[in-house]
This record gives sequence, C-alpha cells and structure tokens, in this order.
Amino acid sequence: MMIIGLTGGIGSGKSTIARIFEMLGVKVYYADERAKASYFLSHVKPKIEILLGKESYINGSILNKKYIAQKIFSDDELLKKLNEIIHAEVKNDFYLFAEKYKKEKYIIKESALLVEANLLSTINKLLLVTSDIKLREERIIKRDGLTKEEINKRIEKQLPDAEKIKHADWIIDNNEQELLIPHIIEIHKSLVG
Ligand code: ATP
Repeated sequence: MMIIGLTGGIGSGKSTIARIFEMLGVKVYYADERAKASYFLSHVKPKIEILLGKESYINGSILNKKYIAQKIFSDDELLKKLNEIIHAEVKNDFYLFAEKYKKEKYIIKESALLVEANLLSTINKLLLVTSDIKLREERIIKRDGLTKEEINKRIEKQLPDAEKIKHADWIIDNNEQELLIPHIIEIHKSLVG
C-alpha cells in the first residue's frame, strides 16, 4: 500500500481535491483536522492544560485558540512541546488508519504542512496543489471571513510553492482554468494500475 501526501498552501484547494479522491473510493486521512480533534482526547487534554494552563479550553470544551496563540507566540520552547504532544497523537492515529486500510492500493494523507513539518519520509509520493495567492486569499476571505492580514500571517508560516514543487511527484494547478477531475482520474489510474 502506498501513502500519498496531499499538500498545498492555505486555500489552494487540497481538501476539495481530497474529496474528489474520496468520491473515487480512495481513503483520505485529514491530518490537520485530526490534529485539531486530538486536543479534546481525554488523555491529551490534561497534557495541554499542564503545559499551557486550564485557560486553554473555554468551559472545558472549546479550544481557546487566542489564549494558546498568545502563550506560544513568543515562547518557542512551549510551541515545540505543544507540537510534540499533537504530532505524537497524529502519528499514532495515522498509523491506525493506515493499518485499517492496508489492503488498499494507496491512501492519501492530507496536510498543509507536510513539507514544513519534515514529514516527507512518512509518505511515498507527494501531490502538490498550487493556486495563485490572490485567488487563495479570495477563497479564504469567503470561506472563513479572515482578513488579508490574518491570511498573510498564515501564508508566512508556510513554505512558498517554489520550494514545495521540488518535492512534488504531481502538481495540480487549481486556478479554476482547467477541470480538476480529469487530472485526478489520471493520477488515480496511475496509482491503481
Ligand atoms: P486550508 O488549508 O485552508 O484548509 P485547502 O487548501 O484545503 O485550505 P479548500 O478548503 O479545498 O482549500 O478550498 C478553499 C475554498 O476554495 C473552499 O471554500 C473551496 O470550496 C474553494 N475552492 C477550492 N478549489 C476550488 C475550485 N477549483 N473551484 C471553486 N472553488 C474552489
């Protein structure tokens, strides 16, 4: 079974493309979503509270993103420890997912920071989704209501496409100029042989 990494910058369209693969029957692991969900696991929550404080959760059930961001913003050590907790969870969770679907020809691991987080060794091939920054900004403003400033802050934390391209086995240019589905089917066919 092959593990295909699916990555791209914020708003590039990776989740949209992942969902098309799912329609073809491919099993997709949404690493970023699973990472967010892991904050609420009963064995993870106490670790986060010890590391960052009880205020990390509002009423014990909603993630206090603003508080967490403030805590880790100027403290690289805290950020590192937080990442270690969450990465360990996602690693284990993905292992179980991959075990469950080990008979598949391939599975997809979708994550915005696959290259940035040095996770290339955990995948066999990389599919990169690219889009022009302006289009990405428009999509995120529409989808999440973020300001341009907030979006730029996130973009700054991600490697530019020019760097990611070096590691890509396939690139899908999601600029709404060409149909996505034929390209996805072509990649799918090459993987299922
Ligand atoms: P993030 O990293 O922020 O989660 P993403 O790369 O997963 O983003 P998507 O959520 O797939 O991006 O796409 C962002 C928004 O743009 C969504 O609302 C999606 O519906 C829209 N979008 C993506 N690709 C296209 C497209 N080809 N045509 C029209 N809308 C699109």
